[in-house]
Amino acid sequence: MSVQENKIYLPKSEIPAFWYNVLPDLPEPLGPYLTPDRRPVSPSDLAGIFPPALIAQEVSDQRLHPIPEPVLEALSVWRPTPLVRARRLEKALGVGSRIYYKDESVSPSGSHKSNTAMAQAYFNKQAGISRLTTETGAGQWGTAMAIAARQFGMTARVYMVKISLEQKPYRKVIMNMMGAEVLASPSRETEAGRRALAADPGALGTLGLAISEAVEEAVSRPDTNYVLGSVLNHVVLHQTVIGQEVQKQLALAGETPDYLIACHGGGSNFGGLVAPFVPDILSGACKARAVAVEPESCPTLTRGKFDYDAGDTAGFTPLMPMYSLGADFQPPAIHAGGLRYHGASPVVSALLKSKVISAAAVSNDDCFKYARMMAWSEYVIPAPESAHALAQTCLTALELERRGKPGCLVFTLSGHGLLDLSAYQGNQEKV
Ligand SMILES: *Cc1c(COP(=O)(O)O)cnc(C)c1O
Repeated sequence: MSVQENKIYLPKSEIPAFWYNVLPDLPEPLGPYLTPDRRPVSPSDLAGIFPPALIAQEVSDQRLHPIPEPVLEALSVWRPTPLVRARRLEKALGVGSRIYYKDESVSPSGSHKSNTAMAQAYFNKQAGISRLTTETGAGQWGTAMAIAARQFGMTARVYMVKISLEQKPYRKVIMNMMGAEVLASPSRETEAGRRALAADPGALGTLGLAISEAVEEAVSRPDTNYVLGSVLNHVVLHQTVIGQEVQKQLALAGETPDYLIACHGGGSNFGGLVAPFVPDILSGACKARAVAVEPESCPTLTRGKFDYDAGDTAGFTPLMPMYSLGADFQPPAIHAGGLRYHGASPVVSALLKSKVISAAAVSNDDCFKYARMMAWSEYVIPAPESAHALAQTCLTALELERRGKPGCLVFTLSGHGLLDLSAYQGNQEKV
């Protein structure tokens, strides 16, 4: 009989006390955000929808940002999250590599998005804001925000893309239980929504339009701000608790990583894993290759162009320096809704452009194949988004095996797939 420890836990006292800001490490400074008429965005341009603390974090040159006590207390409900050695997956693959996953699925929303949701709700509350608006596609972000608004005694209104709401009705149930209001977008509540419905009464909605609705409402009400679940620097900053915990957990396991792998939609869970490692990667002290993984059908980092582009379809958001497929790119309706974004985090884009990290694209078939393998080996059903990181990890471990060079691979399980079962419904064939 062999019973081995597979989970590496940290005590509550080891929750990181700081967020790690990677902006000062970038080999080339990040270009400023620009208004649609190409003037640098000033903090006052953002003051109508974001609180001062988050605007300051967006352009900060300070490496360490202390995590405020009330945010730490909220994070301590589920953090530190375990780092798990996936021995049974290694065996199923037949590889000698050590595979670890950082389990962000244990959060209240079932994904890493709760890390930034709690922080954003807190800083808005501090600034005297009582209502938050946001958009959600697949529903993970809306769920995380609904819980965070409840934590800090605020109300939340979530514009959920109509087609997603119809496909994933249970996400709305959770958000409603937490006290948030959920509207199908396009809605009749905003000018942008009414315009879309006038043009097409049967419109099924898009993420770009839902963003426009949530921003419009925040701009028009002084008690209301807007919150975004990915892409922006302050969101990546809040996710760096992931990478800092992984550093401590790998040290406990006596491991040094050869690969750090995470899926990439807007870049927040990837940035959160990798940012704390960047100084050591740059100095050569850490030899890990950091790989951002995206769907072949939405290849922002591997096939996109680095330039200024808008974050939404309507062109409400500033122009950001990033890899992009173009703001009007329509990704196919793959199940990994969180990875169907035309752009990328400016921070991750800058790291890729200066070759500190690399990017890979995986096929939908490989995602389902390795998600099934994870289900019957580890008894874990990954979110379709996380299955991209998983697939890249498995493919890399198999390649290392062929070369006779097993290594240590770490990937982020950004969320579980228990509310995405419709994604797996049509993919039941035997492996
Ligand atoms: C939103 C989401 C993603 C993609 O967002 P990033 O900002 O790139 O991390 C990945 N996985 C899950 C589970 C998500 O909910």
